[in-house]
Amino acid sequence: MLRIGHLSCGYGGPPVVRDVSFRVREGERLCILGPNGCGKTTLLRALAGLLPSQGVMEMGGEDLRALPTRRRAQKLALMSQLSPAAFDYSVYEAVMLGRYAHQRGGLLSGESEADRKAVEDSLQLTGTWELRDRLVTQLSGGQLQRVFLARTFAQDPQAVLLDEPTNHLDLRYQVELIDILRTWSSTPGRCVVGVLHDINLALAFADTVLLLDHGSVLACEPMDRFDLAMLDGLYGMDVRDYMKTTLQRWS
Ligand code: ADP
Repeated sequence: MLRIGHLSCGYGGPPVVRDVSFRVREGERLCILGPNGCGKTTLLRALAGLLPSQGVMEMGGEDLRALPTRRRAQKLALMSQLSPAAFDYSVYEAVMLGRYAHQRGGLLSGESEADRKAVEDSLQLTGTWELRDRLVTQLSGGQLQRVFLARTFAQDPQAVLLDEPTNHLDLRYQVELIDILRTWSSTPGRCVVGVLHDINLALAFADTVLLLDHGSVLACEPMDRFDLAMLDGLYGMDVRDYMKTTLQRWS
């Protein structure tokens, strides 16, 4: 579905992401793991078209770079970390903003029945239907993040790119968000590429793990073949021992 080949990108100096290749199939949830500064966000930003890059970037056989912005937004949506809601939109209006890629004459052209249906479905799926008339400036962090997720879904992309969407969220909200994403990705024709801060959450969510080391792919394996010991070298510590010791506190 998504094919990335020999992708490199950066910020003008030496490339931060180097020669990265991977594929994501329909229904797949690929999580990118690696320590701070290894290039996870940079890679996601390049996939989202927010950073110039070299290499192959195709979705459904189409060159993503050659697509007009709207067409591209129908294929890929980036959901990033909690961003403060600066405007007094209602939740319903904020989620409707996700429909811009589908509204021919722009947002001022008026909402269609399909727009309303997509917004309502997204509000339902993310559990924000009851909040629809509230102002986004008056929501808690967890509620706001679910509203952002609803807006991402309303865009009706084929692939959702996640940049640490669970950061700053309480455990319950983290688990909820991941469950919602799992449900969303189970509809045919969809996939997820995600960076999740929490390794445990990433391993629970992913069916494929891509390890990024100094901007290059160290491994890209399905979960059932993934060797957890690879995390030790990548993070420079005995990750499994740390996890086991932490878990013992709960028994
Ligand atoms: P990660 O998401 O894995 O923590 P990032 O992609 O944010 O890593 O950063 C990778 C590298 O790119 C880091 O060395 C970081 O300092 C650098 N970097 C990130 N953003 C910028 C920027 N806007 N300009 C220049 N360098 C940047």
